[in-house]
Amino acid sequence: MKKLHFLATLFLCFTLAATAQETETLFTTTTGQDAPAPAGWQFASNTTINAVGLTKEALLSATQPQKNVLLYTAQNQPVEYWYFPGTSRKNALVIGGMHGSELSAVEVAKHLVQQLLQGQKPYYNVLVIPVLFPDNARAAMTCTKDRLQDNTGRYTTESAADPNRQMPAAGQPFLLQQPVDAVQREIENEMKALLHVIQLVKPERLLSIHAIRDQGRAGVFADPRTTCEGTALGFDSDEDLALLMAEHIQAFGGTCRGNNLDQAPTALYYLDPAIAPAGQKQMRSYQSPLLQGKSRGVSLGTWSSTAVCHNDGSLSRPAIRTFTVEFPGYLAPAEYKTRKEQQRYQRMVTVYADAIRQYFLQAFAVEGPVFAPEPFASN
Ligand SMILES: [Zn+2]
Repeated sequence: MKKLHFLATLFLCFTLAATAQETETLFTTTTGQDAPAPAGWQFASNTTINAVGLTKEALLSATQPQKNVLLYTAQNQPVEYWYFPGTSRKNALVIGGMHGSELSAVEVAKHLVQQLLQGQKPYYNVLVIPVLFPDNARAAMTCTKDRLQDNTGRYTTESAADPNRQMPAAGQPFLLQQPVDAVQREIENEMKALLHVIQLVKPERLLSIHAIRDQGRAGVFADPRTTCEGTALGFDSDEDLALLMAEHIQAFGGTCRGNNLDQAPTALYYLDPAIAPAGQKQMRSYQSPLLQGKSRGVSLGTWSSTAVCHNDGSLSRPAIRTFTVEFPGYLAPAEYKTRKEQQRYQRMVTVYADAIRQYFLQAFAVEGPVFAPEPFASN
């Protein structure tokens, strides 16, 4: 923790000193390049996805920032992803707009893309999906009633499960041939695409940008990584990195009171079970009997932070270092009524995106090589 904080302080000082130079791009292009969509990578709503032709190489081979399309939605909107090559061989994934109702979170993801196009090269190669459910975000944007009261854009349909509860069982792979979640519901196409990408890339770290109504709960949270069977692997480095991001947000005037930095700093989301010490069983929120209906199922955070073990090695992966950002409030800055509020939340968007770019995507708490567990105890 101390070492990380020392590095962070150095980084913060550098950041403050170098702001004026940040507009200088390290890329040869500032606009990115559109690449042709890989063949077969399109899910019409009534087709199976067996023909998906994407490979890890196709996702990660570009040497310059690149925009591409993951799939087209039921309303024929593209789900876009950006790829930014980093300075290492490690990979990160950033997701915005899993909940279309959280338009502020979409703004953070889009701002991050603009920053990456103009600024410092990341340490991690990073895929950014700014709006995972563009049809739902459109529903929120075009809503003429009180979209917050109606939670417009959170669910795709009246009967659809919460997008963030459509993952396979913790420890189990996503199967293209059998795309059902932990409670046997058909997974929505947008989520199928995301799960497939995660399974192909097996990123070292993942961050999903959400927003939260109760602004006192906003902040940066980590999911505890576990083995396939749910044994805790240790939370310290995940918490350190989440708190570094939170400290940056607070230092630059942002709100992240859910991290409780001034009293008892924490990276544990307030609804999640306590963190188990390494080697002990980690409880998960989906195990709560209180979660029913749309809220029943496994979240992305639980699924990605749990290792996957499968006979087919291509489907297995280590536990992914996983963060959830909860931006304060659902409204995009432009939706606020007064100019002062608009400016405040625009600054908040910038500060949150900065925290992701300068800490999550740089060489902090870098993941080491993963060793297979010893098959036999030595004596
Ligand atoms: Zn959300």
